[in-house]
Amino acid sequence: MNKKIQVIKGDITEIQVDAIVNAANEQLAGGGGVDGAIHRAGGPTIMAECREIGSCPTGQAVITNGGKLPANKVIHTVGPVWNGGNKNEAELLASCYQQSLLLAEEYQLKRVAFPNISTGVYGYPKKEAARIAVQTVEETLRNLNDVEEVYFVCFDEENESIYKEWLGHN
Ligand code: ADP
Repeated sequence: MNKKIQVIKGDITEIQVDAIVNAANEQLAGGGGVDGAIHRAGGPTIMAECREIGSCPTGQAVITNGGKLPANKVIHTVGPVWNGGNKNEAELLASCYQQSLLLAEEYQLKRVAFPNISTGVYGYPKKEAARIAVQTVEETLRNLNDVEEVYFVCFDEENESIYKEWLGHN
C-alpha cells in the first residue's frame, strides 16, 4: 500500500482527518500552546474524557473524542521536556510518534495529523525533533495496515522548512 506523509503549515485544530494528535501533559490537564488550542476549539467533551482517563506517562498516548473539531478523535501524547539530551528525550519523543500511530491503527483510523511535539514550551531542539518524528513515522507506518496518511502540521515557518528538508521536498 502506498503511504503518504505530508507537511502542512497551519493550525491543527482546523484539519479534517480521522485523528489529530495533541501535545499534552502527564495530567491531561490542558494548558497553553497546541493543547490549549485543541481544548478551546473542541469544547468540553474532550476534557471530560481526559478526566475519566486520568493521566498519561511521558512517551505514551491515549485517545478521546474530538468534540466539535473537524477531526473525529484526539490522540493525546505526552512529549518529553528537553533537559539537555541525556534524559532519554530522543527515545521518549520517538515513542510518542510510535504509540500515537499504534493507537490510530487499533482504532482503524486512516488519516492522522501530528503537531511538532515538544518543540514549544518543552524546548526540544526543532531540527532534532523533526528528524526523530520523520524517521519514526516512516518506520512505524511500514508495519501498519489501516493508517495510510500522516500529516505533520507545522505552526511556524521554521518547522515547516525543517520538515520539508527532512522529507526531501522544498
Ligand atoms: P510542548 O509542550 O509539547 O512543547 P507546545 O504546544 O508548547 O507543546 O508546542 C508544540 C508545537 O505546537 C510548537 O511547535 C507550537 O508552535 C505548535 N502549535 C501551537 N499551537 C498550534 C496549533 N494550533 N496547531 C498546530 N501547532 C501548534
